[in-house]
Amino acid sequence: MTSLSSLAALAEGLDGFDPAAMPLAAARDFIARLTPPPLADCEVAIDDALGRVLATDVISPIDVPAHDNSAMDGYAFHGSDLITGRPTDLAIVGQVLAGGVAQSARIGPGQCLRVMTGTALPAGLDTVVAQEHVVRHGERITIPADTLVAGRNRRRAGEDLARGRLALAAGRWLEPADVGLLASLGLDRVRVHRRARVAVFSTGSELRPAGGALAEGCIYDSNRHTIRAMVARLGLDVIDLGLVGDDPELLARTLVDAAGQADAVITSGGVGPGEADHTRAVYTRLGEAQFWSMAIRPGRPLTIGRLQASLKGGRQAGAASGPGPGPGPGPGPGSESGSESGPVMLFGLPGNPVAVVVVFYALIRDALLRLAGARPRPLPTLACFATAAMTKRPERTEFIRVTIERDGEGRPLARPTGAQGSAILHSMSEADGLMILGPGLSSLAAGDRVEVLPLRGLV
Ligand code: AMP
Ligand code: MG
Repeated sequence: MTSLSSLAALAEGLDGFDPAAMPLAAARDFIARLTPPPLADCEVAIDDALGRVLATDVISPIDVPAHDNSAMDGYAFHGSDLITGRPTDLAIVGQVLAGGVAQSARIGPGQCLRVMTGTALPAGLDTVVAQEHVVRHGERITIPADTLVAGRNRRRAGEDLARGRLALAAGRWLEPADVGLLASLGLDRVRVHRRARVAVFSTGSELRPAGGALAEGCIYDSNRHTIRAMVARLGLDVIDLGLVGDDPELLARTLVDAAGQADAVITSGGVGPGEADHTRAVYTRLGEAQFWSMAIRPGRPLTIGRLQASLKGGRQAGAASGPGPGPGPGPGPGSESGSESGPVMLFGLPGNPVAVVVVFYALIRDALLRLAGARPRPLPTLACFATAAMTKRPERTEFIRVTIERDGEGRPLARPTGAQGSAILHSMSEADGLMILGPGLSSLAAGDRVEVLPLRGLV
């Protein structure tokens, strides 16, 4: 059994911890301290492994490449044949295409072998000259003086990855190149964690589902769909629990339902100062929670909680549906990984549709990836030049929706997408990224360098 510190204990000692004005960095540290119990694992075909999280280290079973081979279409020979200051003349005594093996590896001094890129080089042939760098006359070639040094254009066995070396570490969120790397090691299956399941619901009595009529005073629920999409793009399974009105009992029932089938729950709305009291009572009854006001804009209120593991009831590993690649031989409840025995994480996002996106990428993404068993790498940012002057409160981190364009010299410019009201989802959808104005900064001049978190192509 893993022993879990309470959330309050985890928060203690965090640099800058202040629930009433929580710096982004402190909130990130807090999330990094959460140690979710590991999820069960299963084996999948590598072509189903994209976006899955490696459950074990992958050690290279072979040298890659397996043999010394040619990096060029050209002629392989003994480098000792090269003479400084003079052309080198060699006799072509054979040809080996890619995938072929030199029959008699006896290529003597003054001789060469016609090879293709990737041709395994027989022992002793340590140098390759590219075909476009020689003069060929019949069955002989001439390498012009001083155009090549011995050892060139040879790829060494194991230079990409030596046998026994770590190829991919457990916790890796698999990218396309990783899938290719696994294949290059001859592996067609790989052990990954089962997909984390994330229950999503929206709270607010004013919300109506898209596709239906809009009663007076109501708005369509957009957050649930935005959150579903962001979670799905991380490769996690979504369980949609719909809409929940502002009613503590309904909220409690939905959370119990969520805990019965998910590893994490994301809600939106109902955590602001006006509504936090009834949510606080419910969360405290069902588990534990931290209620913060973040020192960021947009996206002030945030709840991070944990629902008691006992709420999971008699759930079965692999019971939830999802587009996963089959159940696999993952262990069941109470099995060696303890994967089904931990509490269920709870993330209460603000109701504000723009804040939902900002808070998700600023904090929740990392928390979810950790829950999925991954070791998230920080999202890359792009250095841009601001097109407009701006002022801000120095104690806050502000996220400004921007488009990214290039000026005449190709320099990237970050241009705010008009009205930045935090309910304006349209300007979020228009944005290529979020300009991040960190704490300490109180004003910005046009032309200043700024950091932008690109949103296009994000996962
Ligand atoms: P709340 O945090 O519940 O006070 O909500 C803040 C603002 O966001 C209010 O104007 C809500 O109507 C709006 N809002 C809350 N939930 C959603 C949602 N699921 N979709 C769109 N807007 C929402
Ligand atoms: Mg509300």
